[in-house]
Amino acid sequence: MKKTKYVFVTGGVTSSLGKGIIAASLAKLLQERGYSTTIQKLDPYINIDPGTLNPYEHGECFVTDDGAETDLDLGHYERFLNIPTSQANNVTTGRIYQSVINKERRGEFLGKTVQIIPHITDEIKNRIQILGKTGEFDIVITEIGGTVGDIESLPYIESVRQLLWELGDENAISIHLTLIPYLAAAGELKTKPTQHSVKMLMQSGVSPDILVCRTEHPLNESIKNKLALFCNVQKEAIIESIDAETIYDVPLLMLEEKLDEVVLNKLQLPHNNTPELITWKNFLIKHKNPKSTIEIGLIGKYVELHDAYKSILEALIHAGATNEVKVKVRWIHSDKLTSDNVPKQLNGLNGILVAPGFGDRGIEGKIDAVKYARENKIPFFGICLGMQMAVIEFSRNVLNLKGAFSTEMDENTPHPIINLMEEQKTIVNKGGTMRLGSWKCQLAENSKIKAIYEQEIIEERHRHRYEFNNDYLEQIETAGMIATGKNPKTNLVEVVELTNHPWFIGVQYHPEYKSTVLNPHPLFVSFVKASLEHSLT
Ligand code: GLN
Repeated sequence: MKKTKYVFVTGGVTSSLGKGIIAASLAKLLQERGYSTTIQKLDPYINIDPGTLNPYEHGECFVTDDGAETDLDLGHYERFLNIPTSQANNVTTGRIYQSVINKERRGEFLGKTVQIIPHITDEIKNRIQILGKTGEFDIVITEIGGTVGDIESLPYIESVRQLLWELGDENAISIHLTLIPYLAAAGELKTKPTQHSVKMLMQSGVSPDILVCRTEHPLNESIKNKLALFCNVQKEAIIESIDAETIYDVPLLMLEEKLDEVVLNKLQLPHNNTPELITWKNFLIKHKNPKSTIEIGLIGKYVELHDAYKSILEALIHAGATNEVKVKVRWIHSDKLTSDNVPKQLNGLNGILVAPGFGDRGIEGKIDAVKYARENKIPFFGICLGMQMAVIEFSRNVLNLKGAFSTEMDENTPHPIINLMEEQKTIVNKGGTMRLGSWKCQLAENSKIKAIYEQEIIEERHRHRYEFNNDYLEQIETAGMIATGKNPKTNLVEVVELTNHPWFIGVQYHPEYKSTVLNPHPLFVSFVKASLEHSLT
């Protein structure tokens, strides 16, 4: 049983400083040094999970093997660490309150007034320590969402204060990530916002052990001295985090800055084997030195916010590096596509990816894009809703089933090719009720998909309510769209592919969640390869 040590990461001055990337980079370095490390995200909003949030509000909803709908930072944790996360890695204020209120109703606090301190903070502290108590991890890094000074973050900061005190200096430390803005008019980096942010943190009783400073320009000695003096932080614990070309540079930058060493010193842990990051560096070399460029069209309805497709973009980056090709993404708003403008909008693409999504906005544009890819033999990759629309397009235009649709968009369609499963029909609650998490899928002999995975049984993550309607399977297969992946228990169709097309694959699951730097996803690698081949024709 390991004795777990804790690192808390808070953010100050502004949001969007990249706490998740700093936490993941530190974890990567500690992992390379032989410490089993995981990362947890605490989110201060009241939703139970981000599953009910519009992607415009919050970016992508990341799904874990155990079916948790989580913050997109968990995607970074998995892509960097190459180990799966779980529900315990993401906790929201909603979840904390829900469990405290449930306990209150069960009479667990009988006779007591239930309060933020100690009841909410105790629940937060328990959730932080759950991962430590598994005995699996030497180090748990907990990232506190939001920015110091937010009203909703206060119970979290208070819990961190209590834990720092209870666990002791060598078992728990705190890192504060801030911004050192550059004032072009004065030609100077400014430390004042960071001084104020640290003061605010100190008012809550937390004195940071380490400052990580996001900056556009290198921090000189005098800036570091000033920060050390005003923020009560040792000078060697002031870490510069200069803007990077890619997020995948950050672990190497943090290694140069010795963030891992400072953390190990504070936690009184030995500096085992210096991280070499050989595979990581090879990936970066390939990523930064592509031999050619391809262009892939990403058809979606949230394209204004690229974070809504975070895992897909990162999976394309991993697959691009494997193929030594730069993958340029053309963002195409499905709302703006019509059968008339599709040839112009999709002209010159080497691959077409129709993205996941919900609801009927932009749906006909997605169907038109599938048709274009099918007829012009352009590599096509349909993910979740993208797969469903590939089947609808085929039913309408090849089988001539007029009005074929998913009952999600048209309850009264004469041909419900995509339909709700019986057990979904009685569900009223929206949160956490889809088919979620990891499910087994059996791949068919002699299929393209089996050749790509080089496996017969795969496990992939799901997040959807609607399914392929097997009443139409025979007709669809006879016409040349084959179901080459099925759930071995329920027979639900999970993969379709076209026989007379160089690369046309739709998957009901989300392969993008499982692509990591060390294990680029085979489907994305193959799709990028097919698109590269298409670009040479
Ligand atoms: N809206 C579709 C469903 O619920 C697809 C979901 C998705 O693309 N993740 O089945």
